[in-house]
Parts: sequence; structure tokens; C-alpha cells
Amino acid sequence: MSSEIKVRTYLEKSRPMLIGGQWSEGSGGVQQLIDPATEQVIGTAALAAETDIDLAVAAARNAFESPNWRRMPPADRAQRLWKLAELVEENADELAYLDTLNEGMPLGLAEFLCGAGPAEALRYYAGWCTKIEGTTAAISMPDSRPQGAFGPAYHAYTLREPLGVVGAISPWNVPTLMALAKIGPALAAGNTVVLKPSELTPLSALRLGELLAEADFPDGVVNIVPGTGAIAGAHLAAHKDVDMISFTGSTATGKEVARLAIGNLKRVGLELGGKSPILVFEDADLESTIPALAEAVFMNSGQICFAGTRVYVQRGIFEATVEGVARIAAAMKLGHGLDPETALGPLISARQRDGVMQYIEAARAGGDRIATGGNRLARDGFFIEPTVIVPKSINSAIVRDEIFGPVLCIMPFDTLEEAIALANDTPYGLASGVFTSSLSTAHRAAAEIRAGSVWINCYAMLDEAMPTGGYRQSGWGREAGRQGVEELTQTKSVVASL
Ligand code: NAD
Repeated sequence: MSSEIKVRTYLEKSRPMLIGGQWSEGSGGVQQLIDPATEQVIGTAALAAETDIDLAVAAARNAFESPNWRRMPPADRAQRLWKLAELVEENADELAYLDTLNEGMPLGLAEFLCGAGPAEALRYYAGWCTKIEGTTAAISMPDSRPQGAFGPAYHAYTLREPLGVVGAISPWNVPTLMALAKIGPALAAGNTVVLKPSELTPLSALRLGELLAEADFPDGVVNIVPGTGAIAGAHLAAHKDVDMISFTGSTATGKEVARLAIGNLKRVGLELGGKSPILVFEDADLESTIPALAEAVFMNSGQICFAGTRVYVQRGIFEATVEGVARIAAAMKLGHGLDPETALGPLISARQRDGVMQYIEAARAGGDRIATGGNRLARDGFFIEPTVIVPKSINSAIVRDEIFGPVLCIMPFDTLEEAIALANDTPYGLASGVFTSSLSTAHRAAAEIRAGSVWINCYAMLDEAMPTGGYRQSGWGREAGRQGVEELTQTKSVVASL
């Protein structure tokens, strides 16, 4: 069956939520889902009410306490994650089609972000199941008791244990990847999960619920409850029986989630917004740098948290870089993500498009130079042309705020010191890039930039082995890598008198 027919069949009935291994209509009504490229309804999905969140948390708690999961040997958890990776790859065409239809991204991009990308990530996490270890320690206090022939009389060690129930809240961009980025490490560490995907794009996460059952995870280990942020998200964040809330979304919502989570002092992980800088030095290889700059900002129509939206270029190559990036942007074909010619899809919603257009209009009114783009398309769908702006002031809103659209601000600098100061002149600190042929410049910049990721002569080179997360208002904690897994565990100290 083609992916189109599979998806059309899947969408024939309203998609229910997954609680305790059962598919449920829930109590919060249904939500119409929109294709952002056509503004047409593509299907409906259940919305969770607070009572559904309570049921999902109870199911996750039961699953966590059950020996089926709690006493499952780590190698068996690993085998299930590995199986899930295979199933994700086998069903990548369907997951990608769902994400393209519901989120708007070009199908080619979706196929990677729904298949090989998350499958490799799941295999990485499968590897961790058998490697979550404590340490032994030498007790350093002098021991006044008589020492026997065998030396110190204590055995001291640490255990790393799962936290319990992890509430995961994910955004609408890159839905499959975001869902698996939450589920994979949480399960590797032995937790159970209640995932609330964005109410705008719940379809692929719900399809993953079926694959989780096929991969033989016990009922209730993962529960998937789409719902609005204000009702389902807020209730999950505040829930007294949730041990950690792992949130990905905007900085404003992240602050609200942290406030809600305080009631039971649950652990909070926040992957938030950014306004990521890229520094381009005169000794950079412009031929490869210019396309990399365009991709860094325009991928998924700028709706990527890491998007390199502030580019600072050394003055001698400034105009050539502006002209090169603008030329690539102007040639990008906007269209439906299912059209193989499409380079850029729509934004997620009318609200998002209108918000981005307000920034562009304010820039235009303020006299900023619009090197290319700057318009919405006069057709159905929430399309905005890829836009390159040379701002008059580094203090304008378009330079400072996260816009989450296809808008690049490009500005000149003269010295390394000035470039670093400009890069760090932001309340965010998620990611950054440096393009140069000088090792010294690259690593001096990497040391000075205040951001969770620095890419040198490449951009958004994400790998599950590398922790990601934000400095300053881009978040708390790290996902991925050893640290990402360890943040989903807690440490117990054990001291035994021998
Ligand atoms: P958002 O903050 O509006 O929503 C994110 C999620 O939070 C959704 O599931 C939403 O329903 C839920 N939510 C909304 N209000 C809530 C509340 N009061 N309590 C609990 N949950 C609530 O973000 P978005 O518009 O879906 O996504 C775009 C944002 O996400 C951008 O700021 C982007 O930078 C960020 N993002 C960050 C990363 C990262 O890894 N740092 C990755 C992707 C997206």
C-alpha cells in the first residue's frame, strides 16, 4: 500500500489517545487538524481533558511499579528500543507523510527526520540501557574503629535509578523526532512516560503509540495524550504524581511550566527557544559557507529551534555574502511538502504566519534593507517568502526576538572581539556557528560564545552522542548524550559497614 493510501485510511476515523495500552476517545472532545499548505481539514484527533491526564499518569505509575517493567533486565529494554528503531524505519514513509501533511515540511526532509534520524537515535539509547552505572567510592573519613586485617570497614557505592513517571511535552515542529527524542532516553533510563504532543500535530506521535505496542513495551509504559497546552499540558506540568517534566517549546511557555512544576518539586528539563548567531570570517570558504547559511535558517521554513537567524559577516565579504544568500533564497520553490520540487513549505498556522509578517512589516517600516523576500504568498496556505534582511539597528525586535519563520538578519562586523560581543548580545543561548579557515579563530570563538552548541564550518550537525540544550533563557539541562540519559535518573548513595 502506498504511504498516501495508508495515511488516508489512518485518517478516516478520529484518532484516539493511548492510555494504559488502551485506545480511548478521552473526555476533552476532538480537534480538527489542518494541512498548513492548503488550510484544509485533514482529520481529527482526540483532545485530553484533565481527567485523561490523571488516568494517563496513573497508568504510567502502575507500569513503573509493575515488575514487568521495573524488573525487566536492561538488555530486554534495549532489545525493545532496538525493535522500535526497526519499526520506525519500516514505517518511515507513513510517519513522514503524516508530518508533511500536518506540519508542512517537505517530504524529503520529513523522510530523514522520521526514519533514519530517529531510528539511529533509538539505537543509541538502546545502547545506554546496559550502561547506566553507579560508582564505588573510598570513604575518606578516618575510621576510629579497630581495623581488621582487611583494611577499611565500609563499602560505599552509588546506584543510578530511574526517576519514575516522566511527563513529556513536545512542540509542533518536527513531530516524530520530538516525540522520540522524549521517549527514547526516558525508556532507556527505565522510566515510564506520559507524552503530550502539540495539539496542532499529534498524528505521528499517535501512530508511534501503535509501534510501541508492536515493539512489545508493556501497557502503560508510554501513554500518548494529545491536548491543548492550557488544559492538558498545564495539568501534566502541575501533576503531583509526575516525577519529571521534560518540556520542549517556547521560552515563555517553559517559564510557565517551571512555575507549574514547583508544587511537588518535580525535576524540570527545558529545551527552549533561540536566536542563534553564526559568525562568518573573511577567511571562510564562501562557496560552501553561503549554501550552509541558507540551509541553517530556512530549513523547515525557519521553524527549527536551532535556526541560525542572526548571521554576522566580516566586513570585507559582507556584500558578497548577503548577495549569495539572497540569491539562494529567491530561488527556493515554495509549495506543498508533497510536491517533490518544494524546497520550502508553509508555516504551521495563520497565527504563526501573521506573527512573522508583523516582524517583517515593522522592519520594512523602520527602513531596514530587505535583500529578498518579505512577503506572504497570495494563495491558500500559510506561506512566507524566504526573507533576508539587513537591519539598521542591532537592537530592533527582528534582531532580538525568536521569530520562528524564514527570516534571516545579516549584519557586518570588523574584529573577532566585536563578533563575539554581537553573538552574545541576546537573552538566548541555544546554538551557534563559526565559519573560518583559521583553527585559532574557530576555537577562540567556540570558547567565548555562550551557547549550548557551537558548530564549526557546518551547522545543526546534531548527533545523539552530543548533548544539546540552552545557556541562559534557552533552557535548563541537556538532552542527548550521557548527560541527557543521566538527567533522567537519580543517584542513590549506599554505605555499608562491613
Ligand atoms: P509552545 O511553547 O507554544 O508549545 C510547546 C508545547 O507546550 C505544546 O505541546 C503546547 O501545547 C504546550 N503548552 C502550551 N502552553 C502550555 C502550558 N501553559 N503548560 C504546559 N504546556 C503548555 O511552542 P511551539 O509553538 O509548539 O513550538 C515552537 C517553540 O519551541 C519555539 O520557541 C522553538 O524554539 C521551541 N523549540 C525548542 C527546541 C529545543 O530543542 N530547544 C526544539 C523545538 C522547538
